Formats: sequence, C-alpha cells, structure tokens
Amino acid sequence: MGSNFAYRSLSDFMRSSTLRWLVLVASILIILILAVQLFWLNKVYSFEQKTFNTNVVKSIRGLYEDLDLVDTRAIHLQDLIEHPNTDNFLFRVDSLYSEDTIAFYLKHELNDFDVLTDVHIGYYNAGNPNFKNTAYITAAASRYSPDAVNLSVVKRNYNYILLYFPHRKKYILQQMNFWFISSAALFIVLIGLAVMLFFFYRQRFLAEIQKDFVNNFTHEFKTPLAVMKISAEVLLNDKITTQPDRLRKYATIVENQTQHLQNQVERLLQIARSDRRDLPIQKKQVPVKDLIEQAVAKMQPLIDEKNAEVSIPIEEEQNIEVSADRAHLELAIVNLLENALKYSAKPHIIVTTGNEEGNIYISVKDNGIGIEKKYQKSLFKKFYRVPTGDVHNVKGFGLGLNFVKRIIDAHHGTIKINSLPGIGTEFRLILPATVNS
Ligand code: ADP
Repeated sequence: MGSNFAYRSLSDFMRSSTLRWLVLVASILIILILAVQLFWLNKVYSFEQKTFNTNVVKSIRGLYEDLDLVDTRAIHLQDLIEHPNTDNFLFRVDSLYSEDTIAFYLKHELNDFDVLTDVHIGYYNAGNPNFKNTAYITAAASRYSPDAVNLSVVKRNYNYILLYFPHRKKYILQQMNFWFISSAALFIVLIGLAVMLFFFYRQRFLAEIQKDFVNNFTHEFKTPLAVMKISAEVLLNDKITTQPDRLRKYATIVENQTQHLQNQVERLLQIARSDRRDLPIQKKQVPVKDLIEQAVAKMQPLIDEKNAEVSIPIEEEQNIEVSADRAHLELAIVNLLENALKYSAKPHIIVTTGNEEGNIYISVKDNGIGIEKKYQKSLFKKFYRVPTGDVHNVKGFGLGLNFVKRIIDAHHGTIKINSLPGIGTEFRLILPATVNS
C-alpha cells in the first residue's frame, strides 16, 4: 500500500504540473502565432494600399501620355498629381478635352493597371469654384450602382480632374481575401490542435485514474480473500469437529468477510448505477436523531473492531426532522462514519445535529489524522485520495466522499469541512430545512 500511495502522490503531482505547463505553453504559442498573423495582415494591408495608390498614379500618367492634357515638358509629371486624402486623387489639366474622351481613356488606363473598382470623376474649373461636371466609371466586375456624391472641392488656381474611389477600402480588403482565408484556416487548425491536445491529455488522465482504481480495487479485495482462505483451511482440518468454539470462530470470520465483500461490491454497483443518471431521491420527513443512530448501528462491527468511542450528544427534544431521502442520507452518514473510523488511530467520534441559519446540519467529528487545507477542495472528486505518507494501510477507492457529495447535491445542500492535520476532522452536512423537490 505504501508504494501505492507514493506512486499516487507522484502521479498526482505529474498530472497537475504537466497539465499546467502544457496549457501555459500552448496558450503562449497560440497568442504568439495570432499576434504574428495580425502583424502580417496589417503589413499586407499597407502593401495593398500602396500598390493601389501606385497603380492609380500609373493610370494617370498613362492618361497624360494618351492625351496632351498639359505641357509636360514644362512641369514634372509627379508635380501634377496630388493625393489629398486616401480616397481622392487629383491631377492638373490645362487643355480641356471632352469629358467623355477623358472618361474613356481613363477607364482603359485604370483597367490596364488593375484598378478594378468604381470611380467618380470630377472636372474642376478654376474659374468656377464648383465641379463643372461629374462622371462615374463602373468597374467591369463592380457590384455597386453609382450613388450620388458631393465631391469635396480642393481649391486650386488651375483646372484639375478629381478621382474619388468610393469603395477603395472594400476593394483592397477583397484583394486580401486569400490572406483572411489562410488566417482563418490557421486559426481553425490551432483550435483543432488545442482540442486534440486536451482530449489526448484527458485520455491519459483517465487511463491513470483507471490504473489507480485497479490498484485500490485489488488491495481492497485481497485482504478479505486471504483471511477467508486461511479460515477455510482451518475449517477443512479434520480435527475442527472436535473444537466447536474454534469452528464457530472461523465460520464467523468467513461470514464477516463475505459480508464485507458483499457491502463493497454493493457500493461499487450503486455508484456505477447512479453514475449514469441523477440520484433518484424520494423525500420524506425523517427524524435526524433516529437516522444517525441507525447509521451508527450499521457501523457497529467496525466500531468494535477499532475499539472506537462514538457519542451522539443529542437530546430527545432536539430530534429535529429533515425532508430527505432516508436511505441515501443514511448512506452519506455511514460513509462519513466509516472515514472517521478509518482515518483515526484511536477513534473518538462525535455526531451531532442542529439548526444553523435556517438550515439543518449533521456533523461528524473525529480526532483522526486530519486533512491539509490544500487537499480539501479535491476530496469530493471521484477516485481522489489524499496523497499521505503517514498512513499507508488505509484502504479505499476514493469514491465515498464523492458519493456523499452527490447525495447532498441532490438534496440541494452543502458540505463544510473543518480539519486540522493531527487534530481531527469535522464534516458538516447542511440541508435546507424546507426542501423543494
Ligand atoms: P476513501 O475510500 O479513500 O476513504 P473517500 O472519498 O471516502 O475515499 O475519501 C477521500 C479521501 O479523503 C481519503 O482517501 C482520505 O485521504 C480523506 N479523508 C476522508 N475522510 C477523512 C477523515 N475523516 N480524516 C482524514 N482524512 C479523510
């Protein structure tokens, strides 16, 4: 048993610390990858924006080459084109062609340089501070219909043409579709990996639990079987018929051990059965004192065996009633008593009941080994056993308190623990006085 406990504590330690590291490292990696991905998306957006601007400028230059709009020998082309804000471009024109001609050539230039989004064209006349005329070029694959816009006037003392791209941002984002899709795919893959990691780890965790359970199970059943085997050998001895006292003694041992095994099997079955569904609770008004006395009576053989002292300092007039499922609540008390007996060297157990803030409590207090604070929150987990190095010979499955918790949960109650290592433990079951079913 000693090695079993040592193995348990080590594996418990491995479990929680490995899991913590795994989750931490995986989270940091995921955040890092996402940050890098966001950084790249931003970069690609800036790049696409620049490309768009360059292509518009190239188209305008193309237009200058197609038509003699200005005397390009006198001024450098670059000085003729302005970019007053993100969606607008303007360029100087001296000799005026018809608007249709300009729109026709511009459309071709924009197409040639892959500026495939709609554009409003405004013709500005320096003599008249408003736009003389406007036109709209719809790109070949455009999904938009032209909407009326008031082009913003930029004051200049020469004529110019203003290009306003109303869907510039959407167009650039569309160009980035591939990047968005690949980022989403990467994100999905990362989530998938995290989920797989989680299931893989849980599988391993369950396998460990199963291993522990089989270990405990073997220990729990080995001792009674060994005792029964020895008793059977004694009973098979021919001389036993002449020793009726001895015969009775060994027959009783066999009976007790059989009873013990039967109880254990019954408990396991009950837990396995109740595992699949909620506990079936049939509530009745139950006198708590009677319930406690019955539970103690059930534990009498173990109490005698351990030479334990059990006191129930409850006055008759304190025999309060609680609305509960009698069999289940009794089983909960039996489990607490069994633990109090198991985890105390010279058990002195006090069982009390009473009212507390409108609720009814049942308290089982022992003078046993106690439970360190850090383990207290895990006690009610299935298969959990405190990894203690002090007591090696206490058998159990780590199922008792889990079952107690499920019973109390089904009654909408709570459990409080008061425990000091080396001094003792008190488990307090708190049930609502009026239970709504
Ligand atoms: P087990 O079958 O191991 O007793 P339980 O679920 O009943 O399983 O209890 C879980 C663990 O809680 C035990 O292994 C033991 O370490 C600790 N424990 C429960 N009751 C007591 C108690 N009265 N005193 C000290 N430790 C206790």
